[in-house]
Amino acid sequence: MAKQITGRIGLIGDPVEHSLSPVFQQAAFDTLGIPVKYELWRTSTGMIRARIASMRVGAIYGANITLPHKEAFAEAVDRLTEIAQRVGAVNTIIHDEDGKLLGDNTDVYGFIQPLREREFAFEESDALILGAGGAARAAVIGLLDAGIRTITIANRSLPRAEALANDFDDPRISVCALDEAPERAEGRQLAINATALGWHGESPVGPEFFERLAPGALVYDLTYRRTPYLVAAEAAGLETLDGLPMLVHQGARSFELWTGEPAPLDVMMKAATEAALARAPS
Ligand code: NDP
Repeated sequence: MAKQITGRIGLIGDPVEHSLSPVFQQAAFDTLGIPVKYELWRTSTGMIRARIASMRVGAIYGANITLPHKEAFAEAVDRLTEIAQRVGAVNTIIHDEDGKLLGDNTDVYGFIQPLREREFAFEESDALILGAGGAARAAVIGLLDAGIRTITIANRSLPRAEALANDFDDPRISVCALDEAPERAEGRQLAINATALGWHGESPVGPEFFERLAPGALVYDLTYRRTPYLVAAEAAGLETLDGLPMLVHQGARSFELWTGEPAPLDVMMKAATEAALARAPS
């Protein structure tokens, strides 16, 4: 149900200045004529308690949380949704009508929705995830819930991949070191880059990785940029997907949680795409 909201919503993280969220969230509020200002609330670790306190007063309807505070805010809010509990991280806070701060997680939805839009055949696919951090965790949950056949998590730090796999106790998950990723890529239909590599022209894997994937495999990079990883996948004749649709879908879901109204997805996608292009290195 639509809620009458006016006031402020903010992005909490450190840093936050680079974020595209204010651009496409503000475009959505303005398009629907909702008088909300989406702000940047840079918050150091030492300021988390003060930030929570400030959200309890005034016309503050909620927040998005980004690096490095998604786990810390899962501890700091009053209540968590089931999905936020499973992920162990909060990227959206909703200020309930009873005055409580509810922590939710829309990253899993944001991750899976672009795959659903492509009608990706989860139940006939084996996935390989590069990385074992917060984004990889969201990907694992999304893929398991969607019915993926198997997942291998390849990470630079093998113990971190093992710890992530152990949290799920699911026979579909296996792990390996990052340098074993090319051989483990053999015949897979989905390869996801959930490492921090890509923003500055690096790739977690070399060209041989893409040659091992199944013909027609989908190569997904959570980085919202045309990375060397995606360029190499294209050169190998594979399908590609960057992280911008994930970013917009997680934000659209947050918007719906705050407002109770359907998000103007096309407006948000257009604003995010234009802003991302304007910021891309030439
Ligand atoms: P984390 O810091 O939690 O995890 C980082 C991951 O990258 C770890 O697996 C880490 O490996 C790996 N890594 C870092 N440096 C290297 C390196 N030099 N060589 C190999 N592996 C490396 O980050 P997140 O999981 O939160 O984010 C990962 C990526 O996903 C980022 O690029 C982020 O921008 C993107 N993202 C995109 C979203 C979207 O909406 N499109 C949403 C969330 C994240 P190790 O464990 O060995 O350190």
